[in-house]
Amino acid sequence: MPHELPSLPYDYNALEPQYDEQTVRLHHDKHHQAYVTGLNKAEDELAKARQAGDFGLIKHWCREAAFNGSGHILHTLFWENMCPPGQAKALPGGHLGEAIAKDFGSFDAFKAEFTAATIGVEASGWGLLCYRSMDGKLVILQSEKHQDLTQWGVMPILVCDAWEHAYYLKYQNRRADWVKAFWSIVNWDVVEERFCEVAGC
Ligand code: FE
Repeated sequence: MPHELPSLPYDYNALEPQYDEQTVRLHHDKHHQAYVTGLNKAEDELAKARQAGDFGLIKHWCREAAFNGSGHILHTLFWENMCPPGQAKALPGGHLGEAIAKDFGSFDAFKAEFTAATIGVEASGWGLLCYRSMDGKLVILQSEKHQDLTQWGVMPILVCDAWEHAYYLKYQNRRADWVKAFWSIVNWDVVEERFCEVAGC
């Protein structure tokens, strides 16, 4: 079955004023769709290569699958981990709140590090809060593009898109303003659920 663009869990204008309707519409319908299309194309070409026993372009299609597959996954997580500003909790609670305090010292220290990591991504990429199952720790990572600079075996539970396509219409070159606005539309309930699924609480 080919991959499909998931619908947004809210209306295009639901994240206003922090996240404007025009950007959400373009970002979801055009950019995210392009990653879905690119992933389907790459997987289709890899299947054809297996059938033909011709792996001359294996490097190209593996790269395409890594870029577009990671783009599809991260955007899917991104839409889900936001909610209208009126519904957003200021802080995570429960087991996630405790784990953040344990692994980063405090919520404020975590927030400062995640903010700096996201603003500091070189060129296009993401800020990511991930659960690393090998040692049961939360770690903050950057990814460049979608797939570079990760660590193996982590599950992203909170992601913030720092590509210019994610914020340029409203925030122009002010990436820091976008990241600041992002904090007031984080859906902590979803992030807590993701944490408990992977950490087993
Ligand atoms: Fe994006």
